[in-house]
Amino acid sequence: MKLVFATNNRNKLKEVQTLVPKHIELLSLEDIGCKEDIPETQPTIEGNAIQKAEYLKTNYGYDCFADDTGLEVDALHGEPGVYSARYAGLQRNANDNMNKLLDNLEDKTNRGAQFKTVIALHLNGELKTFTGICRGEITHEKHGDKGFGYDPIFKAEGYNETFAEISLEQKNKIGHRGKAVRGLISHLDSI
Ligand code: IMP
Repeated sequence: MKLVFATNNRNKLKEVQTLVPKHIELLSLEDIGCKEDIPETQPTIEGNAIQKAEYLKTNYGYDCFADDTGLEVDALHGEPGVYSARYAGLQRNANDNMNKLLDNLEDKTNRGAQFKTVIALHLNGELKTFTGICRGEITHEKHGDKGFGYDPIFKAEGYNETFAEISLEQKNKIGHRGKAVRGLISHLDSI
């Protein structure tokens, strides 16, 4: 069975391909000739994941799944959330985003936050979502050079190091994306 993963990130695709059941062949957006930017105009992370999966099903006809991730900060009422990628502007720069977040939290004592990933799966005419949440806190400064995005300023609950200081393997075990992917995999295993 062929299943499209709405990504052009070869690493993400490879990583997930090793986890899904053998009879499922994952295809990237490039593999199906999808070159346009898929609309992500919904006000929620769930909404965007669903919008992307529905767009692909409608326009390309493939069963597929799409993911969307955001960082929700308690003291900022869930911001940047769905706007995480473009928090500091359309240049989508990770450093600018982190600096803006640290500035906005300067006078806040509550540093609680969570990463949230939602995967929307369109399969056999049914739409299902899988959510992964990782609770933690925003540090006062950036630490570490691994990972990407907001990793240098996010410490998972029970950890003294940021996501940018721990291994990818460790991050996958406790992280939001790993949790959502495991939900997807166990569903695919059961069908
Ligand atoms: P996307 O939905 O994977 O494109 O993620 C949206 C934005 O959230 C990205 O531009 C990153 O800045 C941030 N982000 C997503 N996943 C992670 C992560 O695992 N660590 C840190 N930042 C992330």
